[in-house]
Amino acid sequence: MTFSVHGLAVSRGIAIGRAVVVASSRMDVAHYFVQADEVQSEIERLRRARNAVAEDIHKVQQNLHELGSTDAHPELTALLDVHLMLLQDEQLTSGVKHWIVDRHYNAEWALTTQLEVIARQFDEMEDPYLRERKADLEQVVERMLRVMRGVESPVAGEARQPAPDNAPEIPLVLIAHDLSPADMLQFKQSVFAGFVTDVGGKTSHTAIVARSMDIPAVVGARSASHLIKQDDWVVIDGDTGVVVVDPSPILLAEYGFKQRQGEVERERLSRLRNTPAVTLDGQRIELLANIEQPEDAAAALKAGAVGVGLFRSEFLFMGREGKLPDEEEQYQAYRRAVEGMQGLPVTIRTVDVGADKPLDRGASRGDDHLNPALGLRAIRWSLAEPSMFLAQLRAILRAAAHGPVHLLIPMLAHASEIRQTLALVRRASEQLEASGTRQGLLKLGAMIEVPAAALTIPLFLRHFDFLSIGTNDLIQYTLAIDRADESVAHLYDPVHPAVLQLLASTIAQCREQGKGVSVCGEMAGDVSMTRLLLGLGLRSFSMHPSQILAVKQQILRCDAGRLQTWAQSVLAAEDPAALMTDG
Ligand code: PEP
Ligand code: MG
Repeated sequence: MTFSVHGLAVSRGIAIGRAVVVASSRMDVAHYFVQADEVQSEIERLRRARNAVAEDIHKVQQNLHELGSTDAHPELTALLDVHLMLLQDEQLTSGVKHWIVDRHYNAEWALTTQLEVIARQFDEMEDPYLRERKADLEQVVERMLRVMRGVESPVAGEARQPAPDNAPEIPLVLIAHDLSPADMLQFKQSVFAGFVTDVGGKTSHTAIVARSMDIPAVVGARSASHLIKQDDWVVIDGDTGVVVVDPSPILLAEYGFKQRQGEVERERLSRLRNTPAVTLDGQRIELLANIEQPEDAAAALKAGAVGVGLFRSEFLFMGREGKLPDEEEQYQAYRRAVEGMQGLPVTIRTVDVGADKPLDRGASRGDDHLNPALGLRAIRWSLAEPSMFLAQLRAILRAAAHGPVHLLIPMLAHASEIRQTLALVRRASEQLEASGTRQGLLKLGAMIEVPAAALTIPLFLRHFDFLSIGTNDLIQYTLAIDRADESVAHLYDPVHPAVLQLLASTIAQCREQGKGVSVCGEMAGDVSMTRLLLGLGLRSFSMHPSQILAVKQQILRCDAGRLQTWAQSVLAAEDPAALMTDG
């Protein structure tokens, strides 16, 4: 039966595929296809894991028996029997085999997929005793996964490939309750054509990474992961936020048509790649790329970016189970990005963890602190960990010897933070000098993402070469709206008069002083905002590579001089949103 769920449209396009429903905690399991001749070895890996777990359980049973404790612990004995029974369960074993043989999933993926199928059935059971057996099944599967982790798949090295020629060509879409930014890194290398999550806001980092991957995505779809079943056919409409489950043939044809139209539009836009971004009245606009990993530099160049305006370096730090990248590893990564951009400038932002970007996948937001977005995040964290921060600064200075690098500091608000930061930049440079290590010159920039910073621009202009406005956080902190919380997403308003005043005055003050200013929040890549930002005097935009050509097309059609008058009327309006379609 066809039904639809609604969420927030965060990444454009249409994806049509079979649902793979995962618990977010199991996203760190690798998802890749195996070749036909590897199917048997995957089944064998699974069999060995099952036997190893069974053997462990038998040993515990044996010990209990030898200690004469079986009578003393009848519940434990019964539990072990249940685990053994679940391990041999026909539905588990034959189901897992089906995913490997028919769909060519790797063993871990097949196992977690079948777990989700059976767990659903447990959830629906009337009998509370049977319902609770779901936890036992999860434990058994977790144990098997642990064993398999110790025994790498012989084909894991070639992981994350498209479906092998002989596998059924079925596109897959991922449905999850939540995906952390660290999950997204895993996801970036996987086989899914789109995704839907129950939670998340439009500028949550999960949504941001989806846009960077240029795949259709809907977040904040509330109970999607409960309503959608494993293997359901699903259409994800990333333009409207609608997710259609089990679509009728007519709907499928309609969405298929829309999908093809999107491809034609993309193809048309790609012809603008080498066209300079100049307005009708001759204003040259700088279009820069936001990247998360050094390898993204290729996509930035392909989209015609004239540099990287924001390299979110924290993605190098995430999902590493406490082992942070050292100076050398970071240097190599930054150097790859710099060399990848072939002489164009790369703006590296120092690590911005915290809030909805926990270092580790397991740590969910708010685990330790009541208000993580207001807590030890971004530059606050770096200043609290000076040796880590110095290592990062040294790595960036060293990478600057290979091409033009700009250093960008997130979330500054206090003069004391500025002074401490600049002192550490000097110290890092002196340390390199003392050890005779080659380093380059950096341009220094600050992000304006807190109202306190936007209201004290002269302070920032005294200390920095350029400013970059992080509208995602500036909106969040000005309006007191958690950017990752779908329940207040309707109040997250980029054109709220207070936000526009802060934006306008920051841009105007930078221009008066002849200092560079750009916007690197999601607003810069939103074509419905391009005219307003041009009208407010912005001449440098930084966004995901996938958005650059659409924004360029908009710029080519604009007269920046005329937009200035209109932008002033938007600024003065009580309800700016009502004027957004004029101009
Ligand atoms: C911003 O806040 O606008 C920004 C670009 O930084 P991030 O989205 O990584 O917080
Ligand atoms: Mg920010």
